[in-house]
Amino acid sequence: MSLTMKILVGMLAGLVVGVFFNMIDVAFINEHIVGGLFAMIGTMFVNALKMLVVPLVVFSLLCGVTGIGDIRLLGRVGGKSFGLYLMTTAIAIGTAIILALLIGPGQGFDMQGIDASGIEAKEAPSVWSVFASIVPTNPIQAFASGEMLQIIFYVIVVGIAAVMLGDQSAPFVRACEYMNELMMKIVSIVMAAAPYGVFCLIAKTFAEQGIELFIPVLAYVVTLVGALLLHLFVTLMLLLKVFSGLNPFTFIKKMRPAQIFAFSTASSNATIPVTLRCVTERIGVNNSVASFTVPFGATINMDGTAIMQGVATVFLANVYGIELGISGYLMVIAMAVLASIGTAGVPGVGLVMLTMVLNQVGLPIEGIALILGVDRLMDMIRTAVNITGDAVVSTIVASQEGEIDRTVFEDPNAGMAEDEDLHIDTAAEGRLAEEVRHRPHPAE
Ligand code: ASP
Repeated sequence: MSLTMKILVGMLAGLVVGVFFNMIDVAFINEHIVGGLFAMIGTMFVNALKMLVVPLVVFSLLCGVTGIGDIRLLGRVGGKSFGLYLMTTAIAIGTAIILALLIGPGQGFDMQGIDASGIEAKEAPSVWSVFASIVPTNPIQAFASGEMLQIIFYVIVVGIAAVMLGDQSAPFVRACEYMNELMMKIVSIVMAAAPYGVFCLIAKTFAEQGIELFIPVLAYVVTLVGALLLHLFVTLMLLLKVFSGLNPFTFIKKMRPAQIFAFSTASSNATIPVTLRCVTERIGVNNSVASFTVPFGATINMDGTAIMQGVATVFLANVYGIELGISGYLMVIAMAVLASIGTAGVPGVGLVMLTMVLNQVGLPIEGIALILGVDRLMDMIRTAVNITGDAVVSTIVASQEGEIDRTVFEDPNAGMAEDEDLHIDTAAEGRLAEEVRHRPHPAE
């Protein structure tokens, strides 16, 4: 069985076990299996992914910048991907609002029994301050707190400086290439544990998610899922076909592992290692483009999250009987696009962004309490849409710049290195130990 298949099986098994545990509702199981064992393994798995994000982005981006050979290409890739990210997010939320207005979820909703205490609005930072904060004052701090835009900025500057130094940088570039390989190997090790990690994450979520939470807000859920699927399978795939000429069906198939990871972790950031791998090794995008566009997209591009904000605003406007009008909805689009630039792709951040949007158009933020119960599952689906959007833009930009290997894309087995044998080559291990032992000490 291929690893992707095993992960899929883990996900389905998690779903079945989770729903079953939710139905039987036994205190011991809830406490020790779901809240204990599953939570522990799930957290370890997500932590292992997160542990890889910063070093992987740093070294693959350094390889990308130093290997690009033409700094102007970097500028073009940056400009194009930024423009496309904003455009796809705006299209996403635009379609979501139109669909929600047509379906009209939330009309005649009964607000009784909803506890809205403890929900606070967040102020949206100004665009200027978001751009200003891209330059870090302390790169180590940026690495430590995983500030992706600051990390990307700093690493690009280091990469450009290394290119300017020319031959002198050769050992540094080789070291980065080696570190990149090493990180990719660790990704393989973590991926090998994915079927179990995914199983635990999904089982835990579904064991804790009562189906009864969905019934009062079913219209919201159905509209939202409809808008997410429409964006994923129609809008994004049309854009891919038109701008790169690649086959959308092959694309979706190749993205499946990353989508499953995004679905189980609900975090675009934690999924970066897998997205990067799918985009480079399975789709064939050159690392010089992917190493920049993928982490950049994970931070600034959130199509699925924007869709949720569009549907939620229409839903709450209907619930409260408030007319937003064209200008109100245009404001929602602008806010959602801008808010996505400065916020990292972590679980639940969409709700925080929603408070900013609601605040801006004057809708009561307490309304969020209505959709809070179903948000985890919605978060999982929208994160899968978010990372697919990143990969589509990355592929379009690469194809326009001639930085895509179409034979890799056409090869159904490309990038199946995820199934690679993880055994340790004992002979090589012995040779390495021997060599290290006989290496003269630098002081000698
Ligand atoms: N969890 C989403 C992501 O990581 C963000 C959100 O919608 O909450 O992309």
